[in-house]
Amino acid sequence: MKTPTSTRREALSIIAGGATLAFSPAGLANSKRPLSKLRFLVVSDTHLGYKNSTSAEKRWIQAAAELKSASGDLVLHLGDIVDGGREEQYEVYLREREKIGKPVYEIPGNHDPLDLFRKHIRKQVDVAVDHEWLKFVLVSNAHTDSHDGFITDAQLQWIESQCVAAKEQQQYVMLCLHVPVHSNRHPDRGWHVKPEHGQTKLYDIIACHKQQIVAMIHGHFHNGIRGWKDDDGIHEICLPAVLYNLDRGLEKQKAAGYNPLEFRPGYTMVTIDKGLMTLDYKPLGADVSINKKCEFVHDG
Ligand SMILES: [Zn+2]
Repeated sequence: MKTPTSTRREALSIIAGGATLAFSPAGLANSKRPLSKLRFLVVSDTHLGYKNSTSAEKRWIQAAAELKSASGDLVLHLGDIVDGGREEQYEVYLREREKIGKPVYEIPGNHDPLDLFRKHIRKQVDVAVDHEWLKFVLVSNAHTDSHDGFITDAQLQWIESQCVAAKEQQQYVMLCLHVPVHSNRHPDRGWHVKPEHGQTKLYDIIACHKQQIVAMIHGHFHNGIRGWKDDDGIHEICLPAVLYNLDRGLEKQKAAGYNPLEFRPGYTMVTIDKGLMTLDYKPLGADVSINKKCEFVHDG
């Protein structure tokens, strides 16, 4: 078992070794080590109990039924399972979750008080889930009294240790946090991890381990597929909500990043194959309407 100190030292030696020169994550598209095709499903923001009506429950029932028959090895839920901490709704959530017949891994959102998440979903909140060559690093970064995200120093150290472990195990990392880290403001929501709340330090860690990181994914925005790929950064993507998504006119207003025009309630089918990640937006009760391709750039 590594102590946090040795983990940190190891990470620093990687920086010193110049391993940060390649763009992220070149190995994914590297024919020297072909990786098996992976497919998984992502839901977010079910908000059960929303407005004290059964509308959210109906959506979740439909989403869970579709997830059951959809092809994909596992399901991620990116937070806001219930709305406003309505404890009785976790039962509703779990009742349908059981029918999916695939492993489901959740992270808490700002509507999921941590004590309730621990009680109903999982005792250990921040966990890493290994699936073949991919390590999902699930991080709780939401507070119930804020729309912004917060990452503690202990969490940052843990995230870094997971990146180091992934490298040792020849794995790649998918970072999963409810609140996006990427800066954004009007006409976007304006909700993210502010520099002093862990953004700067997380980006430092990402810069060191970029070769290992496939993407960072989030919920929270209710904005369909809303993503950014900065020149020197990784793919950072908010994924569609099951309850509702809104068109904020981002493409029209030329906001940075991308926001394909699909805003029906839905979920995402993620396929990673031959160095390409495809996000298929699956509106509930309708066919896939958007195939967003996320490429990984080789080190030139
Ligand atoms: Zn949220």
